[in-house]
Amino acid sequence: MNDSYDVVIAGGGVVGLCSAYYLQKTGVSVLIVDRGRYSEAASTGNAGMIVPSHIVPLSAPGVIAKGLKWLMNPESPLYIKPSANPKFMKWLWLFQKHCTAEHVARSIPILRDLSLMSRDLFSDVCALPGFEEVGLAHDGLLMLHRSDYAKKDNLELADLAENAGLEISRLSAQETMDLEPALKSELTGSVFFKQDASIHPERFMRALESHLRAAGVHFLDAEVKSFERSGGAVHAVGTTKGRFSSKHVVLAAGSWSPFLASKLGSAIAVQPAKGYSITVPVSEPSLKIPCILTDEKVTITPMPGCLRFGGTLALQGYDNSIDERRASPIRRLAETYCDGVDKVVDKVPTWAGFRPASPDGLPFIGALPAAPNVFAATGHGMMGVTLGPVTGKLISELIGGGPASLDVAPFASDRH
Ligand SMILES: Cc1cc2nc3c(=O)[nH]c(=O)nc-3n(C[C@H](O)[C@H](O)[C@H](O)COP(=O)(O)OP(=O)(O)OC[C@H]3O[C@@H](n4cnc5c(N)ncnc54)[C@H](O)[C@@H]3O)c2cc1C
Repeated sequence: MNDSYDVVIAGGGVVGLCSAYYLQKTGVSVLIVDRGRYSEAASTGNAGMIVPSHIVPLSAPGVIAKGLKWLMNPESPLYIKPSANPKFMKWLWLFQKHCTAEHVARSIPILRDLSLMSRDLFSDVCALPGFEEVGLAHDGLLMLHRSDYAKKDNLELADLAENAGLEISRLSAQETMDLEPALKSELTGSVFFKQDASIHPERFMRALESHLRAAGVHFLDAEVKSFERSGGAVHAVGTTKGRFSSKHVVLAAGSWSPFLASKLGSAIAVQPAKGYSITVPVSEPSLKIPCILTDEKVTITPMPGCLRFGGTLALQGYDNSIDERRASPIRRLAETYCDGVDKVVDKVPTWAGFRPASPDGLPFIGALPAAPNVFAATGHGMMGVTLGPVTGKLISELIGGGPASLDVAPFASDRH
């Protein structure tokens, strides 16, 4: 291991690995430092959906009202724990400020372009040798509804998506069952988002790590603790296993990125948004198309060798305990919607991960004003897998000093 690199990346989740991938392609030397990859990262255990359909940010009109309504319901899909923590209060204030129709309208083309570009980049990366088993599937996504309320939400999203140029179909219950005969339950219909895709996230991460190691990227199991600076710029990164000189630093520490940014006098408005998943091993999933149950906000993803069910968004700080009451609707719905899981679904453990959530639903991708050679790559919330490749590409372009493929102004780390 060297003691000097062109770029040190703090965090080896999907965003850190994708950043390393595009950086090493430009010929620079890269060190990834992570204190607990595959254990505390959100990048394993997630639903693995690549979702151009998610053009509406979480901060949309009505979300706060829903959060308040569900406050006392232990099984609700959204939970906001009241807290007097000033950082959390500020984040919540910024979040509610963005819950407007204007913000949604502004964000739609931005999220569409980011996610469509990232989807194409996934195809490029997964065409490389070593990625044969990652299960990249371009089967689209079904957003299912049962109640009139969920149907209204889905059809409104369909209108927005269609106006934004995405390929969708509005399907009746029968048309949905014809397209995906493995679904059971009393659906009233769905919207089919044809450009969505999916992947097995753990397999993708492992394939990418192997590829990066073979390409000469170094990995260090350690915690980033400090930064040495000359003027504003950082020239070395201090870790629990030594000090490494670096020309550039990428902060890709997911929900923990604000702690590192604060050491540099910068504030990145990210809060951990806890979610759960349950993975049921099956030899061959009968379901082919990933689904979201809009009534209950539960995801179902068929992956090689398993069906994964996910849900819940809990804003309650860095509390990583698992509340089985919140996971129970996920288990119940797994049995309701999918054949062949009922004997196993109660026996598999619940996984929990923190989505790094920004208050306006857009990621942070760009230099910190207080340290111009340090780049934030975080805040991807519910879309970190989807946006991993495009974030990595943009980070490599910014560090390379060339023009970025997309306008990065909306992702400025100090925009709030
Ligand atoms: C239930 C659930 C389902 C989801 N489903 C989807 C989906 O279908 N599609 C989608 O696009 N997204 C999904 N997401 C969101 C996605 O998982 C996250 O946005 C994404 O994984 C974030 O990646 P990251 O690399 O930014 O952060 P992480 O994966 O959290 O990685 C951050 C890393 O930084 C390390 N770290 C932190 N501090 C330090 C330090 N000081 N020193 C060294 N290392 C440090 C951590 O150990 C960790 O490995 C889901 C999330 C959840 C919880």
